[in-house]
Amino acid sequence: MRSILESLLWGAGGAFAVLAYLLYSSSQSTDNVIVKPPKAAFHASRLTPSTFLIKEYDDIYSEHPHIYAKVVHAANTILVIDTGCGGASNDTEITITSLKEFIDNVGVDDNNGHPLNEGGKIGYVVALTHCHYDHILGVEDFSSKSWPILASGHSPSFVSKEQLPESSLCKPMGIEMPIYTPTLVADRHRITAPGFSKELGVTILHTPGHTPDEIALFDEAEMMLYVGDSLYEHEHIIFPSQGSITTWFASMKFLVSFVKEKNELSVHSSDSAMAREVLINSGHVTALRPALDVLLGAIAFVRDVVDGKEKVKERRWHRGEATVTYEQGDNRFSLRCPERLVLEARGLKEV
Ligand SMILES: [Zn+2]
Repeated sequence: MRSILESLLWGAGGAFAVLAYLLYSSSQSTDNVIVKPPKAAFHASRLTPSTFLIKEYDDIYSEHPHIYAKVVHAANTILVIDTGCGGASNDTEITITSLKEFIDNVGVDDNNGHPLNEGGKIGYVVALTHCHYDHILGVEDFSSKSWPILASGHSPSFVSKEQLPESSLCKPMGIEMPIYTPTLVADRHRITAPGFSKELGVTILHTPGHTPDEIALFDEAEMMLYVGDSLYEHEHIIFPSQGSITTWFASMKFLVSFVKEKNELSVHSSDSAMAREVLINSGHVTALRPALDVLLGAIAFVRDVVDGKEKVKERRWHRGEATVTYEQGDNRFSLRCPERLVLEARGLKEV
């Protein structure tokens, strides 16, 4: 139940909101026609001094993807991590469906009411954590301007022009493929501003498992780790048919040692402004959470699944094979994947 204080604040906030709306309406009314401000498919909120979380909050696929935008004024560049579902929304009042239009034109409260890239003055670099449709459908507005679209070079065939419609799940879902040509980058690639050697302070790490092209990104100065769909809390961690739990374990163990090293360095740093631990930010649900705790929790849960310590919650036929769901007691972690992947990780070769 809400506390009295909370109720008072809620009441006061509501009154202000009504007053603001009436003032706005009266200023916008002409002959009793109320002109509403344009509504966008995205919300943005500040995570760090440079970085915003942009959430596509009511998409028709119910993915509610996370998009991250890091504004680097010194390099005159915005790094966009993933591009969401392309703005297709359940809300029929939404008129701004382009991610780029949102970033260029829509004021954000956490940015003093200004758009993140007012008037589109700053250039872009896009990094795709992997090629699934809910991360790439907004990419075309950036690729059409010839800004770099970075993706993993770990498995070039998986993201080849011929394979992308299948790998992205666009083809099986009947979604039109966006047009873009990714620039495939090596493990430990340090992202630079387009056309310059100026670094943005963010490194790409190959972390295959969810898909062969899954990456993580690490922002050194802000101690922020972006992991795409490798893991998150309170929603099913999903592996598609091209995923591998065995490969995922190796990538997550690498991230654990990487994060431990960074945490250790920060503890001994004399820079008082430096964050004291790495925070994890996922492609869905999870943001600004302690990275080590989330990584270790997810690994322990998936390990229990593979060791047969978790019971199958649901088994059904999906895209031509048996698909299983496991859910932790408190639902912090859950998993959905082809049963074949669990058995492969268990060391069994046949279903
Ligand atoms: Zn995915």
